[in-house]
Order: sequence, then structure tokens, then C-alpha cells
Amino acid sequence: MYIDVLLQISAFDDKTFLYSVPSNLEDQIEVGKRVKVPFGKKEIMGIIICIKTNNDTNYELKQILEVMDSFPILNEEMIELGKYMSDTYICSLMTCYQSMIPSALKFNTKNINIKYKTYIEKLKDYTSNVKSEINILNLFNNTNKILKSDISNKKALSKLIELEVLKEIKEEEYRLDSNIDACNLKELTKDQINTYNSIKDSNKNICLLRGVTGSGKTEIYMYLIKDVLEKNKTAIVLVPEISLTTQLINRFKCIFGDDIAVLHSSLSDGERYDEWRKIRKNEVKLVIGTRSAIFAPLSNLGLIIIDEEQEDSYKQENNPRYKTIDIAIKRIEYNNAKLLLGSATPSLESYARSKVGIYDLVELNKRVNDKCLPKVIVVDMKEEMKKRNPILSGEASYLIQDRLNKKEQIMILINRRGYSNYVLCDECGEVINCKNCDISLTYHKNSNSLKCHYCNHIETMPNICPNCKSKHISLKGIGTEKIEELLNSKYNAKVIRMDKDTTSTKGSHERIINDFNSCKYDILLGTQMISKGLDFYNVTLVIVLNGDSSLNIPDYRSAEKTFELLTQVAGRSGRSNKEGIALIQTYNPNHYSIELAKKHDYIGFYNEEIKIRKKLNYPPFCFIVAVRLLTNDYELGNIEINKVNNYLKKKLDNNFTILGPTISLKINNIYKFQCIIKYKDKEKIYEVLNNINKHYKNNKIKLEIDFNPIKI
Ligand SMILES: [Zn+2]
Ligand SMILES: [Zn+2]
Repeated sequence: MYIDVLLQISAFDDKTFLYSVPSNLEDQIEVGKRVKVPFGKKEIMGIIICIKTNNDTNYELKQILEVMDSFPILNEEMIELGKYMSDTYICSLMTCYQSMIPSALKFNTKNINIKYKTYIEKLKDYTSNVKSEINILNLFNNTNKILKSDISNKKALSKLIELEVLKEIKEEEYRLDSNIDACNLKELTKDQINTYNSIKDSNKNICLLRGVTGSGKTEIYMYLIKDVLEKNKTAIVLVPEISLTTQLINRFKCIFGDDIAVLHSSLSDGERYDEWRKIRKNEVKLVIGTRSAIFAPLSNLGLIIIDEEQEDSYKQENNPRYKTIDIAIKRIEYNNAKLLLGSATPSLESYARSKVGIYDLVELNKRVNDKCLPKVIVVDMKEEMKKRNPILSGEASYLIQDRLNKKEQIMILINRRGYSNYVLCDECGEVINCKNCDISLTYHKNSNSLKCHYCNHIETMPNICPNCKSKHISLKGIGTEKIEELLNSKYNAKVIRMDKDTTSTKGSHERIINDFNSCKYDILLGTQMISKGLDFYNVTLVIVLNGDSSLNIPDYRSAEKTFELLTQVAGRSGRSNKEGIALIQTYNPNHYSIELAKKHDYIGFYNEEIKIRKKLNYPPFCFIVAVRLLTNDYELGNIEINKVNNYLKKKLDNNFTILGPTISLKINNIYKFQCIIKYKDKEKIYEVLNNINKHYKNNKIKLEIDFNPIKI
């Protein structure tokens, strides 16, 4: 027997090597298992890709050394999917396979143990005269199996095992434990039932559910999942960020109990491995997780749900640079399953696809039980500056006090952490930048340090200007720490801050959310982290301090992202019986994304934005791919990106638009040079990009090809 083995050797990207299998290992060979093989003088790991009966080469083959798995870590579907990804995203097959498996199974990672619990099982009835033995046997009166640790007299136990009355067995133990009380599904409202039926009866395999914030999309998801599980099929639910969806996971766990596995980045490697094994061994039917959970190796998949489908976190930012929806579509095709995309603010692309009938569109325009959407107040900060209210507008200050008096809760969003986002010398005008990046350092008061939010460089705050030695240096700009200080000095309120700095330890997200939910705090202050998915019954005021910060980003999606953020944040307010208010502070009160967010008018926004996209030829009217070169050598990068640009211009005709080349700010001592291509003709673009990819293989300049880039 011979096998084709895919090895992880970057010089031979995606090349497989033929090995022979010694006869004693033959019955262990299966496609998708890992093997240890000799390569040169080393022993390395590889994945079995193909089994062959004869040696079609002219030379004698080396033998594999070991089969490492008892079952394939990649099933047939994943083997296929990897090939599709490698072609679609122009990256190595091994990288694609590695992205599908938990790190415990990846190459070159330290061994992660499977934990076991030891039990004693009773094999047959036995009458003993020895007291210590009788004591043990009595433990088995109502059960067949008990934990070994519950038996204290080990000597008597050994004796009973020797007599084959009892037997020691080991069972795998999973690190994640869920002890959540079971509860029943909520009854659906009339609107929800109609929506549920429309999705269920849809004859398309992809549905887009647009439901306003608070319309109860999650309940509908649960009913659909229940149907699928009852048919003995399985389901995957994807959420954008697990930290914010603790609440959601708990709701699912209390309905579906032990049938769930959870996969997300805040699990330890061991926990992740355990959850993955549960899935692989068909012990669970439902998987909830973030992006990479799309690769959960469930068999008999019936339904995939992608909640808040427009979120950027569904795009992987390093190789393989996949869009989760693309992978989901591939999986439902393979499994003949359904895909449901849900959102209050679908991406323009998805909504456009549903308008032309590629997806089925189902809309839910009312909150549960006809609760009102929150009233949105837009405050013009240009006016507030004149009144010397640069941070908190007069109206915001008034409303905060009003809510505190009423013992209702408040959420405040500012999308910048730290105290001040730059430090400026008043004498010479020097701004203190990171030594590795072209980015100003942020002052953190708690640690009296300057931090780079891009490369994590930290230095102590200087007393004098590093440039002119002046003592007059000042802190400019505002971040979460500064707002926290301001709120504490101005109000008699308990404030809790949620940003990257306060949530770095395991479980801290959950703690903050639980504490705020149980009203231990009056105000939750945070970055984007708090903008989505949270559901607090007592919050009646949400304030966005800098509502237009995303508008100032030069990107074709900046209006879409602004509309989305404001709609989502506003949706956190007034979710129970009390009426909610959302207050947005902005310097651009008349921008259409802000005016339409104020009216909760998604359709209006879509119609406005789609006209602009058409006029300027941006998605959904074309596709975009970014070609980037990364290097620490500015001159070299400049020369090479111009070569790329010239090559693109030569090969691509007027049906393509090439933007650039541009260079981004230096981050961590690396310059990024970029060309953007707008295209419709997929065949031609792949031909050109594959050539560029070949050219830069094993080059000291690193090439990135990024389809559907998040930022351009
Ligand atoms: Zn200075
Ligand atoms: Zn830096």
C-alpha cells in the first residue's frame, strides 16, 4: 500500500509525497489521518490525502513511521473544502487544513493531554464475607458505575477487581462544564410565527432574515434548530464575538442542554480540543461559536445560522482569508442543508442579493409585543463646543442625571481606550510616536504609561518632551479612562468600564456583563465591545460620544459601518417595558447615515447607499481584491509594488479598475504597499493573481492577496 502525504514544508507548498506503508500499519490507514514520515534527515508530520495500490514512480519509496490518529482529523467534506479554499483564496492547502482543526492537533504545537476520569464498573453479582468488600459492593446498590475516587479502601477494591467482580474503566473527561438550569422555549408571537413559517417553507436554500433590534430573532433561530435536531440532523450557529454572546450561549444551553458544543477563541487549547472531539465523535448536535466554528466537523448538517452576518469579524484577516458566508454556502451545498443569515442591518451585498432573489428575504419590522424602538436624539457637537461642552453635551449630562435618579441604567460608548490618544509638546509641537509604527502612542493613566495599540509597545510616560526637553507636554484626545474619570467626578454613580484593558483576563467579560445585568453598576462605559448583542432589561439610555468617528475613515463602507453601529447601539436601549432613548453626539448631524439611523430606516439607508455604490462602482456592483506587499525595506517595496502595478495594467483591460499603488503607515516596522483591483471577470483575475503569487513565492517580500478586504 502507498499513500500520498501532504507535508508542511513551505518550500514545497501543497506538494504531496508518496510513501509506502509497512504491512503492520496498513489497517490503520485512512484519508485525513496524520502520519509521521521521514523527510531528509528529519521526522515530520503530514496528512494522508490519497491511498494508492501501486508505486507509480521509478524509485524506491521510504516507509511511513507511525499513524498518529485513531480516526481521521479531516473528514471527506473537509478534505474537499480545503481544496476549494486553497483555489479560491490563493493560499496553500496545508494552511487551509490547519485552519480547520484545533491547535492541539496542529503541527509543531505542544502536546495537549486528553483528560480521563477513572470509574469502577460492576460486572457481576457477588456475595462476600469480608466487611471492607461488602462496604464497596453496597455502593453499587443503585448503580452500575461509580467514580474510583469514591472508593477509599483500595486494597479491597483490588481484590474485587482480581475476582472480576468489578472492573476499572477510563472515560474521556471534558474540561468545559455546563451547569445551567433547563428551561423551555418561549412561545412565539404572531409576527414571529409568520417569520418562522416563511423561513421554514422557503424553497431557497439561503434566507436573509432582517429583523429590527429587539424583534426576537434568537427565538426564531431556536425553533428552527429544534426542528432540525428533531429530524436527527445537526446545526451550527455563528455569532460575531463570543465575549458578547455569553448571554446568548447560556440561553441556548438552557434549551438544548448537553447537545451543544461551544467553539471560540477565549477557550483554552485544552477546552477547545475537548469540544472539537465531542463534535467529531457525534456526541453533540449543535455547535455555537465564532468564525472558525464554521469548520465544526458535524456530520449530517441541516442548518447553519450566521447571526449579525454583516460583521467584519466573519472575515479572516490572515491566510486563508476566507469570508465565512462563502464557506457556509459551500457546506450547505455539500450537505444539502439550509443557511440563514440574520441581522438588523444586513450588509449591502447580502440585502442586494436578496432583492434580486439569490437569497430569500424575510423581514421582521416590529419589536416583540410592539415595543417601541428607542427614540434617537442627535446632538450637534459644533454647537456644544460653543457652549464649552466638548465631551458631554448638555442634553447628555441632563439625561444621565435623570436616569440615575430613576435608578435606570446607562450605557456609554466611545470607541477609543486609554486616557488620551496622543501626547503633544506645547513648545515644539512634537507628538510622541511609537518607535515601531507611524502611530501616536496612547496615554494610559492607570499604569502611567504610553502604549501602542498596534504593536503593543509600552514605555513610561516622560516628564519632558523627548525632542526639546520642554516640561510643557499635554494630553490630547479622549479615551475610555478619561471618560470614566469624568463620570466618577461628576456623578454619584457606580461606573464599570469594558474595553480591551479591563477584559484581558479569562472570564472578565462575563463578570462585567453579569455584574451590570444584576444592577451592581449604574453605568456601563465601553468601546465597540458593548455595541452589539447585549440585552440588559434596565438600560433606558445609550449615549454614543463620538458618533462619526467611523465616518472619518476613508473607506467606501464608512457610511454603512456608521449606520450599522448607531442602529446597533441604539438597539441596546429600552428592551423591556420602559421606553428607551439613544443619544448620538456628532459633528456631522446631517450626514444621511446619521439622519437615517435616527429614523431607524434601514430601507431608506439601503436605497441611498446603493445609488452611491452604483455611481462609484463599488460592491455589490463589482468585486474587490487587494494585492499587498509587506516588507521592512521601504525602497524595495516601492520598486516592487510599481512592478506589480505595471503588470496588472498590462494584463487587465478597461473592464478592470486598478487603484493605487498606496502605502499604509508603518506598523511594527513593516510597510504595507497595496494595489486594489475592482473586477467582474473572475477567470481573468485568477489567472493574473496566480502568476503574481508564483512570482513572490519564497521571496523576501511577503505577498498578501485579500479578496473582499475589510478595509481598502
Ligand atoms: Zn518639545
Ligand atoms: Zn507600535
